[in-house]
Amino acid sequence: MARIELKNVTKKFGSVAAVDNLDLVIEDGSFTTLLGPSGCGKTTTLRMIAGLETPSDQGEIWLGDRCLYSAKEGHYVPPAQRKLGLVFQSYALWPHLTVFDNIAFGLEIAKLSRKELTKKVEHIASVLFIGELLQRFPNELSGGQQQRVAIARVLVMEPAVLLLDEPLSNLDAKLRMDMRAELKRLHAETQSTIIYVTHDQLEALTMSSQIAVMNHGKLQQYQDPMTVYHHPANIFTGDFIGNPKINLLPAEAIQADGGVQVSIGSLTTEIAGARMPENIGTEPLKITTGVRSEDFRVATEASPNMVRGTVYSVLPAGSQFYLKVKLEEEMITVTVYEDLHLNIDDPVWISVRSDRVKCFDETGLLIWRN
Ligand code: ATP
Repeated sequence: MARIELKNVTKKFGSVAAVDNLDLVIEDGSFTTLLGPSGCGKTTTLRMIAGLETPSDQGEIWLGDRCLYSAKEGHYVPPAQRKLGLVFQSYALWPHLTVFDNIAFGLEIAKLSRKELTKKVEHIASVLFIGELLQRFPNELSGGQQQRVAIARVLVMEPAVLLLDEPLSNLDAKLRMDMRAELKRLHAETQSTIIYVTHDQLEALTMSSQIAVMNHGKLQQYQDPMTVYHHPANIFTGDFIGNPKINLLPAEAIQADGGVQVSIGSLTTEIAGARMPENIGTEPLKITTGVRSEDFRVATEASPNMVRGTVYSVLPAGSQFYLKVKLEEEMITVTVYEDLHLNIDDPVWISVRSDRVKCFDETGLLIWRN
């Protein structure tokens, strides 16, 4: 079984904890993405799973019921015996070998018969749509095709787990999009466990079954993409995921009959059914709200329960329009999906979708889940 478990894993480089007490279970058959900014410890985590890096004196790593690393037992399985497939950002194909021979390389070392080897190479090549390219050399391929050969070369060895470290980052935007779709299909077809490292939040949202958000070596949140997007566990995650960036706005909260009333300046909304934390006195609680740009409502005429703002800029983006709107104190970014024919300095009226407002306490943690 290709379930991976990291228990209390830490990796220090000098005094820097690149990975700090990480507990993570990657389920068999999942597409799990390690996501976070540069230096957050994603690659180090992947390299520890692969066996290319050894944790610092504590913790355990398991593959199914096989212990790959245990500090306590002094147990360490070297990379070649872990049977994991690794694809890095640079494809490093053999330039003097054809695509066929590049893919067949590992099978030849494993001494498969020519017939069996050919069958496996042709099968994996057809899954990755490179069946027509088998006689070409790497320098006769596009970046995307080279990338698929690199993946085919790993997949043909039938690894229990495929580890991918930013494999698409050398590709142009269009090719990256196509390759995301193909990787996702590949995952569905092979049912393999994929662990994917990226700093690209859109890549994580579009491809993963689970996202592990990391920062400073620590796990921030580990859930499915929609939950991470709509219910970020903390400000860091809310801010890191989403484009345009989430609007982070200071606000005050008080208990009302049906829930908690939140005031972002004069913009008020209610978190239905929510209760204020205990023992905080009678003063309004100072919080930070997170509102995604698409969770504002915009009207071009005065409407009840909406506050007036002024258009600061309009950025048309084809299917949607990004507005910067100046409210009393704050500048907000709003996405609208129709052309409201707005110009700079036009008045607009704004409200928020109460079911989408995220409230964070002074330590940055999500308070209520609506
Ligand atoms: P990126 O997206 O830039 O690749 P990352 O999230 O994958 O970043 P890591 O490569 O895991 O981050 O690095 C985590 C931290 O550990 C960083 O501060 C990095 O400088 C440090 N680090 C990583 N490898 C080493 C090393 N071999 N020696 C010293 N420090 C290292």
